[in-house]
Amino acid sequence: MKIFIRKAAACAAGLLLFLPMLLPTGADAASRLEVLVTTFPIYQITRNVAAGRKALNIVLMLPSRMGCPHDYVLTPQDMGRLARTDLLIINGLGMEGFLDRAIESAKAGMRVADSSAGIGGILHYEDAHNHAQEGHGHDQDSLNPHLFASPGLAAAVALNIAGELSKIDPEGASIYYTNADLYAKSMNLLAGDFAELGRRLKNNRIVTQHGVFDYLARDMGLEIIAAVLSLEGQEPSAAGMLETVRLIRELKVGAVFTEPQYPSRISQTIAREAGIPFAELDPAATGPDDAPLDHYETVMRKNLSVLEETLGTR
Ligand SMILES: [Zn+2]
Repeated sequence: MKIFIRKAAACAAGLLLFLPMLLPTGADAASRLEVLVTTFPIYQITRNVAAGRKALNIVLMLPSRMGCPHDYVLTPQDMGRLARTDLLIINGLGMEGFLDRAIESAKAGMRVADSSAGIGGILHYEDAHNHAQEGHGHDQDSLNPHLFASPGLAAAVALNIAGELSKIDPEGASIYYTNADLYAKSMNLLAGDFAELGRRLKNNRIVTQHGVFDYLARDMGLEIIAAVLSLEGQEPSAAGMLETVRLIRELKVGAVFTEPQYPSRISQTIAREAGIPFAELDPAATGPDDAPLDHYETVMRKNLSVLEETLGTR
């Protein structure tokens, strides 16, 4: 036991020696501001905006591999985090229905930043589809919250986040705005590439898995004829599937696109039945825990080639 304690003490002493080098300059770990970001895509944008600034401890709330939290329920661990958080950054537009109860657990004075605030041209979920789904009459007013799958809107989100981080950490403002400008530039280049591909595609009619690509489709001039799943991820009935197959044939749809975040079996069945190709597009709603800062761009560039290969160009 004694030996163990001595070893532990020696280890601690060793750690102490190294600690000053590990600690960020200008702010020790204890004085860092706690920034909690609900979803993976917004977390990645926040990390890009805050790159190089050590005054913030940026934490992702939901598991990075979970995808859209359309039916998420808060855990006790989430409540604990909220009690320590200085700034909570959300996707907004109704994505975080689970937060209603959360505010009770929040640290006094916690700020909530809606990363979609002030962004224009918001789509209603029902605008784009789904003509084939029963229960079509459900909440006509639900807004489509998937801004992040459009690079042009990801740029706008980054600029919003720079403003919010600057409010809690004014000394870092120049870093945040410089990073956000650079990020926005690369996102706008990416958006330009998507729009350019959209003009060259042989067929611009597609079926998607859920409403995640509505904004990207608008950027590209793609027409989404139907989404196979409801916003909450609910699967269609046999009649709903047949109606989608009928629409695909009638409107000569080019392809069905599945997403890695949802099971693709039904979408594949619909594509086979209708005799059109299917392929996977990743909205980058998920990623590894230690995703590189350019994860989104890498995934989106791959989507560009998948769209080009699957729909063909003129
Ligand atoms: Zn979603």
